Amino acid sequence: MSGGGAADEESMNTWRDKTSPGSQSAGFHEECGVVGVFNQAEAANLVYLGLYSLQHRGQEAAGIVSSNGDGLTSHRGLGLVADVFDEDIIRRLVGDKAIGHNRYSTTGQTLLRNTQPFVVEYALGSLAVSHNGNFVNAELLHDRLVRQGSIFQSTSDTEVLIHLIAQSHRPTLLERSIDALAQVEGAYSLVFLAENEMIAARDPHGFRPLVLGRFHTGGFVVASETCALDLVEAEYIREVEPGEVLHFRGEEYESLRPFGPAPGNRCVFEYIYFSRPDSRVFGRNVYEVRKEIGRQLARETAVDADIVVPVPDSGVPAALGYAEESGLPFEMGLIRNHYVGRTFIEPRDAIRHFGVKIKLNAQPAVLEGKRVVVIDDSIVRGTTSRKIVGMIRSAGAEEVHVRISAPPTTDSCYYGVDTPTRGELVANDLSVDEICAYIMADSLAYLSREGLYAFRHEGGGGDGFCDACFTGNYPVAVDAGQEHRQMRLFNAIEARNTGSRRR
Ligand code: SF4
Repeated sequence: MSGGGAADEESMNTWRDKTSPGSQSAGFHEECGVVGVFNQAEAANLVYLGLYSLQHRGQEAAGIVSSNGDGLTSHRGLGLVADVFDEDIIRRLVGDKAIGHNRYSTTGQTLLRNTQPFVVEYALGSLAVSHNGNFVNAELLHDRLVRQGSIFQSTSDTEVLIHLIAQSHRPTLLERSIDALAQVEGAYSLVFLAENEMIAARDPHGFRPLVLGRFHTGGFVVASETCALDLVEAEYIREVEPGEVLHFRGEEYESLRPFGPAPGNRCVFEYIYFSRPDSRVFGRNVYEVRKEIGRQLARETAVDADIVVPVPDSGVPAALGYAEESGLPFEMGLIRNHYVGRTFIEPRDAIRHFGVKIKLNAQPAVLEGKRVVVIDDSIVRGTTSRKIVGMIRSAGAEEVHVRISAPPTTDSCYYGVDTPTRGELVANDLSVDEICAYIMADSLAYLSREGLYAFRHEGGGGDGFCDACFTGNYPVAVDAGQEHRQMRLFNAIEARNTGSRRR
């Protein structure tokens, strides 16, 4: 395998993150968005729109690779989708097949070479890959491959997969992909693109979402969430099932299930926070699930108060549910500035205390003299929650009662979501009362684990879901060393909700 076969804006020799294991910037852990379009005119333009609608899954970088049947063309860049692409670039991405990727990175040094889709040349031609997830055995595979002579540019798990495909002796890309995927463990929703075929795959546990849609003209689209299908006016067909591999070639696709059945472990945090509320994820509308979670939160954690206020945006549906169930008025006591982009200059030194106020502003007209229930989806380090409580008090609230629409976040994620290390999570070593004292709230309560699954009216509790970041019950074993490479899921949450490193 060698890099450089596709037309790209940088040398393929540098497309990997060279940071060492254990560093804060090792590029293993991302919550990303993927899109693939097959057999449809203006495929790159449609992928662009899909990535645009999945912007919430990654804001650091974006890329698209297209195929016209004779070769792959790619463009990748740092920043938001609308910043990375323009009309000329999209026009250059020719062909009726394309895949794309939005990347979220917690590293301070987001580099173009880390941006997907990755493109390589190998024995069967050119290959591009977009990956959302994390292989928990990547290090073991990496070491084995190195012993066998592979030369790595990085420690990235996606690069491990590419090497496995390149080393496979199977005669086709499909067989090589299955051969490689059979060796990795953990979380993946993947899209591969070669000159004349596209492959979509979801890990047997189904950690990360992936859906299949169809254009009325006959072409196909796969995407992380249905909001991407809505924007490109594709009809939702179904989820790509856990453990399913879809092979697109010619006019149709073939569904394969090459891996044995595994218990479903869909990421419940997709419902609580990650996914867009207008998406259908794991077969359910996210907005409705969040509202139901809010109703359950009200049933479990009622308090005498005057108004219910969400921490926007992700806390809004749960707060609506809480207000409905409790009978308290829903008020937007916190207003979010949606126009603070990644070019925003963080305040330093003397004015650093502005902090959370840059993205969230508390409204005295709403809050003054009120007993306020504040609804948020998580408390990570506690620092941001403390600032929000302070803001609400400064705006004149008489009491501030914090309610969290999830259980306490006690453990890190190893399945494709950037998380702080366990030691950085405030709920890992403080009790609820201690956290309440730290954030200076009048009261604090979390949703119970059982209550979290109340949205499953058919029952089943947490069966079929991963909730390891609340329980420490990891459905796929992880090695202890991974803890050191964990980074910051909830920095993403914080950046989105408040504009500063969170809690
Ligand atoms: Fe999702 Fe938490 Fe499981 Fe990670 S550990 S996959 S964030 S539920």
